[in-house]
Amino acid sequence: MNRKKAFLDVAVSLCPYCGAPYVDASWYIIALGSDVDCGSCGRTWNPKSYTSDRILVAFELDESGTVVSVKKERQIADCVI
Ligand SMILES: [Zn+2]
Repeated sequence: MNRKKAFLDVAVSLCPYCGAPYVDASWYIIALGSDVDCGSCGRTWNPKSYTSDRILVAFELDESGTVVSVKKERQIADCVI
C-alpha cells in the first residue's frame, strides 16, 4: 500500500548544564532562537547554541490522515549552526 507522508524538521539539543535532551521544531530553535528553562535542572539556556543534531522526521499516514508510524527520514546536513 502506498501511504502518504508528512514531514517535520526537528533540532536536537542537550542542556549544557545537566545534559538533558530536548527535541523541538527547527524553525522554533533555529529561526526564533528562543531560550528554554530546563525541566531537569531548572537553568535557562539557548538551544540554538547547543544543537547536536537536526533531522527530518517522516509521519506515515493512512487514507484518513491518521498517523500510522513515525521514522527518521534523513539527517539534515547543516545541523551545525
Ligand atoms: Zn538542565
